[in-house]
Amino acid sequence: MDISYILNELGEERDGYFNAVSPPIVQTSNFTFKTVGDFRNALSNEFDALLYSRGNNPTLNILRQKLAALDGAEDALVFSSGIAAITVPILALLKQGDHVVTVDNPYSWTIRLFNDFLSKFGITCTFVDGTRVENIENAIRANTRLIYLESPSTFSYELQDLEAVAAMARQRGIITMTDNSYCTPIYQQPVKLGIDLVAQSATKYLGGHSDVVAGVLTGSKTLIRQIFSHEFMNIGPSLSPHSAWLLIRGMRTLPLRLQRSFETTKKVIAWLRQQPQIDKVLWPFDDEFAQADLARRQMQGCGGLFTFTLKNSSLEKIEAFCNNLKHILMAVSWGGHESLVIPSLAGIQIADYHEINPRHQLIRMYIGLEEPDYIINDIRQALQI
Ligand code: PLP
Repeated sequence: MDISYILNELGEERDGYFNAVSPPIVQTSNFTFKTVGDFRNALSNEFDALLYSRGNNPTLNILRQKLAALDGAEDALVFSSGIAAITVPILALLKQGDHVVTVDNPYSWTIRLFNDFLSKFGITCTFVDGTRVENIENAIRANTRLIYLESPSTFSYELQDLEAVAAMARQRGIITMTDNSYCTPIYQQPVKLGIDLVAQSATKYLGGHSDVVAGVLTGSKTLIRQIFSHEFMNIGPSLSPHSAWLLIRGMRTLPLRLQRSFETTKKVIAWLRQQPQIDKVLWPFDDEFAQADLARRQMQGCGGLFTFTLKNSSLEKIEAFCNNLKHILMAVSWGGHESLVIPSLAGIQIADYHEINPRHQLIRMYIGLEEPDYIINDIRQALQI
């Protein structure tokens, strides 16, 4: 399906709402019925009915159609956060005694889900270096039900070969799920590579303006219906119609914003590489990136999130650099219009900082939509430390 059609037309039945270009925010909790028969049908199959907005809502349904089509998936569910789009399906798929294989450095709350939350239900998890398919394969046990991936991860950018992992898992009847927040469906479509479920933090690029927290899950109709009918309806993580409308609006410019961020990131990285204060740069589309070949094979582009280190990685130098930035904002998250920085040491107590620990040295930057020179000049002045 043509991406312009998906973002501008799919799901939008304008003659039903005054031919307005922008769809209505159907701000209602419930829907009425003229007959008991119709009411009964809706109650018996809420997945296909408009009954109550904890389940379906017309504004959300426009968004769901667009999100499924972007991923090449049969269906999509929308959540009130990205972490809900990860947690709810995992709770739906697993039961006591099951085992998960996952990659070493997924998003921090995903780690907590596997380590602290699922253990309460007797579900175990093995973390492996996912850059080699054999590592994932070797960790599989008789009770492994799920392989959970994040490619690339969003601080150190390790990739997994999604097609190879999906094929290996399918032979064994194991479900695969990946976090695709880094790429969005514009730059990577894991469903087309055989992955069963794809989660995204829509808070990032899909919203694109740092004003909405939301999550997306795509997959087969069967899996999405199963997740909707039980855990989704029980836990109640649905998104408000207003936030869904903000996502529809944000997504109109998604390809444009990603392309801009991608192009500016290339310029910023090329400049950074020439600065004497810079040591390593990590970014999947950088020629020197360890998995550059795989990145170019399975991704069609690369976002504006990259990480670098300073040659002098003392706590004082890293803090001084970040404190000196005048326009690049210090904050979590990414994917909005504004460039951001987060040093990994912000998440570490000062006494626990070890200058020689490579993960402690990382400075992550997100390149937004500003002019390249505006960003470069800010980094230039901040490096004078
Ligand atoms: N996945 C990744 C890679 C993230 O970076 C985040 C949030 O930063 C999430 C998932 C969770 O998304 P949300 O903050 O929308 O719950």
